[in-house]
Amino acid sequence: MSEIVKTKAIVLNKINFGDTSRIANFFTEDFGKIPVIIKGARSSKSKVGLIVDTMNYVEIVFYKKENREIQFSSQIELLKYFSKIREDYEKLIYSNAIIELLNTLLMENEPHKLLFAGTVKIFDLINDSNENPKFLFAKYFLFFLKEIGYDIQTEICNSCGQKIVYDDEVSFNYELGLLCKNCSKDRLTNFNFSSELLKLLICLKAKNNCHYSEEDLDYLISFFEKFLSYNIHEFKGIRSLKFK
Ligand SMILES: [Zn+2]
Repeated sequence: MSEIVKTKAIVLNKINFGDTSRIANFFTEDFGKIPVIIKGARSSKSKVGLIVDTMNYVEIVFYKKENREIQFSSQIELLKYFSKIREDYEKLIYSNAIIELLNTLLMENEPHKLLFAGTVKIFDLINDSNENPKFLFAKYFLFFLKEIGYDIQTEICNSCGQKIVYDDEVSFNYELGLLCKNCSKDRLTNFNFSSELLKLLICLKAKNNCHYSEEDLDYLISFFEKFLSYNIHEFKGIRSLKFK
C-alpha cells in the first residue's frame, strides 16, 4: 500500500546520499521521526535542497509506503526559517540542543503530536521573543522528559507519600524520585534541592514567568541530563551544550 501524504515537519538533520540526493530526518506532526530521501537536493539549482536544512519548519509531501524504511518526498515547502536563531549564539546553542534531543531520543515512526506542537512553539519563542534562551530550553527539556515518559512529579514525596512542602529543602533519588526533607535524611540522594531550586522546578512545569538565577537554571539542566542518562544508558548528555 502506498499513499500520498502531507504533513508539517521540523528538519532534524541531513546527510548526502548518492551523487545528487540527500537523506534527511524529519520530525513530522503526523508520523513522528522519519527519514526521507530528497532526490536532486544537492544540485545548486535545487530550491528543495535549500529548504531541507536543519531546524527549518516545512510542509512535506511524500509517498508513504508501509514496509519501506525510507520514504521518498515529492514536494517540500518552507513554512518558517528561524532567522533570528541563526544570528544569535545563545539562541543557536539551545536550539541545537533541542534538535539533538529529538534526533537522539525519538524512536522512528512514533507520532508525538503534543511534543511536535511544543517543539514548534519553543522555536517560535526562542526566535521571536527576548526571553532568555536558557530559560526557554529548561522549560522545554522538562516538557520533553514528560512527553517521552520520564515525568518528574513534584507533588508528593515518593517515599512516605506526604505532600511536598515548597519551602523545604528536598532531594532527588534516581530510583524513587523526589523525597521530602524528612525522608532525605536516611536515603541515598543523588541531587539536593534548596527551596529556591524546588520552586524553580515547579514553576518551570507550570508557568511562563519564573524567578531564577543563571546558576539554578544550569543546575536544573544538568540534573535533567543526568536523570535522563540514568534512565537511558545510551544517552551521554547533550553535546551541543558542551561548547558553551
Ligand atoms: Zn517523605
